[in-house]
Amino acid sequence: MDKKRGTLLVVSGPAGSGKGTVLGILLQNTEKYVYSVSATTRLPRPGEVDGKHYFFLTKEKFLSLVASDSFLEHAEYVGNCYGTLRSFVEEKLEEGKNVILEIEVQGALQIREKMPEAMLIFLCPPDYATLESRLRGRGTETDEVIKKRLATALEEIQIAAGYDYLVVNEDGRSADCAAQIDGIVNTRPEKNKENILSFIKNFTE
Ligand code: 5GP
Repeated sequence: MDKKRGTLLVVSGPAGSGKGTVLGILLQNTEKYVYSVSATTRLPRPGEVDGKHYFFLTKEKFLSLVASDSFLEHAEYVGNCYGTLRSFVEEKLEEGKNVILEIEVQGALQIREKMPEAMLIFLCPPDYATLESRLRGRGTETDEVIKKRLATALEEIQIAAGYDYLVVNEDGRSADCAAQIDGIVNTRPEKNKENILSFIKNFTE
């Protein structure tokens, strides 16, 4: 018998949401989850490996993939291009794997249009004060950069209104968060738009 098609899981969250840690926990279950490695035109950061963290491409190569319709979605974010490779995602879904796209909000909304069966999950810090202290905690950026990041985060959080589920990442609770997302994939609980909207309202006021 053919394997059941996997679920396409789109996970977004602002800087400071703890996405990387939470997804790392889910991805330990390699039978169940696979990470879609995106293409980007930005330069690698120290420690990033081509083909593992991203496929690092020139702008020309990226644009040729856009022209050949090789991306399921693509977007520009802070001056660089990012895109999800269609063939990889299709292949893994057919194999029955749940494919995780860790992408920003514009790309997520494109996926919503193209693949209505995808699950859109927004990961969020519990409140503004936590977001700010996580961004400041990195200790590597100027006050101006932190202010910009906070403003971008607030804009992104507003867009969570278009997502199916919102998961709150409290300090030190990454494992709970991963378990919550796994539970959502397993049971597809009813969506609760009103809860999402009131969370966003409280967060941004
Ligand atoms: P970074 O440059 O910090 O790795 O990523 C910047 C933003 O781009 C993050 O929000 C990340 O989730 C998003 N991103 C990474 N890959 C993709 C992609 O393939 N498509 C879209 N739309 N966003 C992506």
